[in-house]
Amino acid sequence: MSTPLHKARPAGPGRALPDNQQGMRRRNLSRVMHAVSAEGPLSRAAVASRIGLTRAAVSTLVDELIRAGLLEELGPERPGRVGRPGSALAVSGQGPAGIGAEVGVDHLAVCAVDLRGRVRARAVRHVANRDRAPEPVLRELTALTDRVVAEAEGEGLWPAGLAVAVPGLVARDARTVVHAPNLGWQDTDLGELLPERFPLTVANEANFGALAELWLGEGTPRDFLHVSAEIGIGAAVVVDGRLLHGNRGFAGELGHVPVHPDGPACACGGRGCLEQYAGEEAVLRAAGLEPGEDRVGLLAGRAEQGDADVRRALHDAGTALGIALTGAVNLLDPESVVLGGALSGLAPWLLPSLRSELARRTAGPACPVSVSALGPEGPLLGAAHSVVRGVLDDPAAVAGRA
Ligand SMILES: [Zn+2]
Repeated sequence: MSTPLHKARPAGPGRALPDNQQGMRRRNLSRVMHAVSAEGPLSRAAVASRIGLTRAAVSTLVDELIRAGLLEELGPERPGRVGRPGSALAVSGQGPAGIGAEVGVDHLAVCAVDLRGRVRARAVRHVANRDRAPEPVLRELTALTDRVVAEAEGEGLWPAGLAVAVPGLVARDARTVVHAPNLGWQDTDLGELLPERFPLTVANEANFGALAELWLGEGTPRDFLHVSAEIGIGAAVVVDGRLLHGNRGFAGELGHVPVHPDGPACACGGRGCLEQYAGEEAVLRAAGLEPGEDRVGLLAGRAEQGDADVRRALHDAGTALGIALTGAVNLLDPESVVLGGALSGLAPWLLPSLRSELARRTAGPACPVSVSALGPEGPLLGAAHSVVRGVLDDPAAVAGRA
């Protein structure tokens, strides 16, 4: 039922659009999708005024997107108005979906998000992945993905791509995990180990967490630092609404910024890294607790009951975070720091010392620190939404694949 929009279509009898016009058409299709996605339902006239094209040009683009199953008409808009009633347009609740997946140190998760941004299927498995070989972990992830895809397909969706969040360094090819110390993975090409049924993107979990914050957070600024953690601590730098990747794609390794140069040895080869003070296991050790499952739940529960050892450990972790973030804030001048991932569940006990350390050490007014409303779901949602954004950015590329 869908039209292959990516193929050159004749502009007149026997004449294909030249490349530059094809490029322009693809960009305009994307502008229509973004306008309807951000502000829909919208009439054709409203889309035309939003993106500055003529009503006739927009109608042609909209018709193509409807035929491709990416937009749908909701019926006449406000009947009773003078003139021909316009039909309200919305992005389709069926058709392409983004499949997001997360490999955590002790869980696997997969979800399907439709073009409207709704989570339509979801599966989580608690499993200890530390020091497990990539093959069995990815086999389990594939089984979980198959379940979610089958559920999504039952609702009229099809996977436009799979994006996988991992707790480690990912090469710029967006498929090779160069080093994931807490999984024990090294130079692992996920493209070879996951089925090739749909396009694959792999990225660090902190990067997907930051993108989720940018796309889904309330009033998120265009320049911010996003810090997330479970056992490791990662950060992502967003500059003018875009992720900063760095030369090799490794930017944001806040967990290995030294806090005390002579501190304990770290798996990275350095000493006194932030992870040695503020990673979940480090905090548990400092509080005299055994690392196990649901580390954040354990720490938050004890802190709530007023356990002095746990509160002191969290206070010290906040101080270490403040020291490490001082370097990043002084260097990058972000508008805010957002605490996301599992760390967000411990924010009430981390924030006071973090904020005061940061305020004491940074030049100029203190950088505001806020807590992500997405919490530990951020990386998974960011992964799925990155696929959805890809469809909005170039609808012509997916329209022929249904
Ligand atoms: Zn380190």
